[in-house]
Order: sequence, then C-alpha cells, then structure tokens
Amino acid sequence: FEQLSTTDPEIAEVVLGELDRLRGGLQLIASENLTSPAVLAALGSTLTNKYAEGYPGRRYYGGCAQVDRAEEIGIARAKELFGAEHANLQPHSGASANLAAYAALVQPGDTVLAMELPHGGHLTHGSRVNFSGRWFQTVGYTVRRDTELIDYDEVRDLARTHRPKMIICGATAYPRLIDFARFREVADEVGAYLMVDAAHFIGLVAGQAIPSPVPYADVVCATTHKVLRGPRGGMILCRESLAERIDKAVFPFTQGGPLMHAVAAKAVALREAAQPEYRTYAAQVVANARALADGLAAEGMRPVSGGTDTHLALIDLRDLGVTGAEAEARCDVATITLNKNAIPYDPQKPMVASGIRVGTPSITTQGLGEAQMRQVAELIGRAVRTDPAAPGGADELTRIAADVAELVADFPAYPR
Ligand code: PLP
Repeated sequence: FEQLSTTDPEIAEVVLGELDRLRGGLQLIASENLTSPAVLAALGSTLTNKYAEGYPGRRYYGGCAQVDRAEEIGIARAKELFGAEHANLQPHSGASANLAAYAALVQPGDTVLAMELPHGGHLTHGSRVNFSGRWFQTVGYTVRRDTELIDYDEVRDLARTHRPKMIICGATAYPRLIDFARFREVADEVGAYLMVDAAHFIGLVAGQAIPSPVPYADVVCATTHKVLRGPRGGMILCRESLAERIDKAVFPFTQGGPLMHAVAAKAVALREAAQPEYRTYAAQVVANARALADGLAAEGMRPVSGGTDTHLALIDLRDLGVTGAEAEARCDVATITLNKNAIPYDPQKPMVASGIRVGTPSITTQGLGEAQMRQVAELIGRAVRTDPAAPGGADELTRIAADVAELVADFPAYPR
C-alpha cells in the first residue's frame, strides 16, 4: 500500500476511503461480502500479468505452468465442494457465466422460461435491455400474489404451453428456498435444459445451509463474490456430458484470456469455504437474516413472503409510507448501506420501488450475531422513518450514524 500511496496518492485515498466506509458502517447489500486477506493477496498478485487463453494443459500461450496449477487446484476444489462432475472458473462475472450457459444450451430465437425481473429474476433472465431478452424469446413466471412464493403450477403451465428449450430458476431478490426437484420435473416433462442461477446462494450451498441444486440442474451458474466470499467473478458447474460445450462457450465463444489472479483467488475462497468454520458461518448468515427480518417486522416493515430461508430479506415499506428510494437514501446518510428493491406486483417504478433488500453476508463475516440483529433492525427503522427535510431529521440521521459506529466498533471489518 505504501507503494500505491507514493505512485498514485489519489487512488490510494480512494482505497483508504473505502476501507473507512466498510469499517464505519453497516453493509447490508445482500450480494456483497468482505473477502479474506488471503483472497485479497491472490487477487493482488503477479498472476494478473499472465495471458492464459485456453484451459490447463491446452493453452495458447507459453509460461502457463504456474497458472495451470492454480486453475487445476481451483477446479478440483469446486468439484469436491459441490459434488459436481465439471467446473469452469473462468467466467469474469455472474452475467458472463449466464451468457456462456445460454451459448452452450440454446440458440438465438429459442424460448427460455425464467423468473420475471420484478418478481426477483435477474437482468440476464430475459430483460429487454439485456442480451437475454434481445436474442431469446423469454417467457416469465411470477410469484403468487397471496403467498409471494414461486407459482410452480404457473411454471408447469407456461412450460407446457411454450415448450422452452431452457428453464432458469434462481433469483436476485427471492428470500425463500427454491424447489429444484420440481423445476427438474417440469424441465423433463417438456424436454428443456434446467439452468440454476445460484449466483446469490451458492455460498449457502457450499456451507450446507440450504439444499444444493447440483443434483437437479444440467448447468449451475454462480458468482464467487457473494455469500461465497471470494473475488468478484463467476463459476459454472455442470454434468460431464456438457463439460466441453460449457468450456467452449466460455472460451473462445464469449471470453478471451481468463483473469488468472481472480481464478487463483477463487481457488483460495473455495478452500476457505470447505472449512468447518465456513459451515458455521453459512448457518449464521441464515439465522441472522431470519432475526433481521423478524426485527424489521417488529419495526412495522413487512418481510415479503413473511420471512426468509436464506441470506436476504425483501422488505415491503408501504405501511410506513416511505418508498424504497427514500429509504435507501436515508439509510445511506446514516451509514447503513442497503438497496431499494421492487417487491412483487410493485405499484412503483423500479427506480423508486416500494421495498428494500437487506442481506447478512457481510455483517456475519464481521461477527455480528442474532443478538445484534434487533439493534440493526432498530437502526434501520429509525433511519427509514426519518425524513431529512423535516425539522431535526438531519440531526437524527447523524445520531443514527454515530450509533452505527458504536455498534460496529465491537465487530471491526478488516481489523487494524
Ligand atoms: N445472476 C443473479 C441471480 C444475480 O443476482 C447476479 C448479480 O447480482 C448475476 C447473475 C450477475 O452477476 P455479476 O454482477 O457478477 O455479473
């Protein structure tokens, strides 16, 4: 870091500023986590210099002996940890992994059945502003109005009507378990591939806190930087019969040279995720999310579907008369970082939204437990209810920020 400060004080200031932000506030973005120093060391290593187009033992460049080892170790760890027949660690991100899965399994113009974005799906599941919506015919399934759970009867009926080539399950803002066996049944009935986008929850699978999609899916796409606590990046797991198609779809079809520093850092994270402590961590992430959802309910905010089985809760703010955008901005001032989020059947536009999404991966890494979740919920409740334009509002948000600092002081992110 001293070298960075000397060479580029401006960027050094940004890095330190971000560290201060992480240390001083509450990080509740469900898709974020705090990577270990070991993961950061691999990421900041000289492996970033290496061109290694291709796969271990089959590269288009010389000098790949060391990076080959990193990738082979990482692949072996991913296969072992998830009980997968094949793993590809090269996707640069979750979206890149999904692009490769589409490329491997379907042709432009084919029909894909996936969850509607406003109901929790991801942009890569058929949004018109994304390749998936532009190049494929997407049919969207929803959650039921009454239970706010995936409507499996609708999934089956849509599959029978539209005969998709691929069905996607796995979401960005769905707090409940997904019945992979049921999706498999529907996929088999109509002869579709089943792609599980486990970007959000693959870490909970690694820690055995929720059931694994691997036995049911043809292809599992994932990110490595969410609950899994690795570097930003993607990963694909699949059956051996699809291995070659997936590998070719990643390179050379959708990517060039892999980011070998990131591949090595993924290997480190996979090793960490195989330890017994990580299992304890994953269970605590879910316990904390449940306690946080309960705490927010006690603060007058309604958890969508009544609660959570995972690392995140989706919170309907309409009873408080506050929008998601207002809540996000208020919490930001109070150094509580979370995001506005559409709720199912949201009457608001996406940039306004009626809800927020909160997740516990980061705060659990910091060591906060269920005992602190009530306090976190109270802090969120105070911030969400505080209009900064009202008399005393700005002062109250400053006081909340001080209370946040006091709480996290006992649970430092990246201890000094
Ligand atoms: N798939 C799902 C379900 C996601 O939630 C996300 C990101 O949040 C992605 C894919 C994309 O991951 P990335 O941002 O790494 O491209």
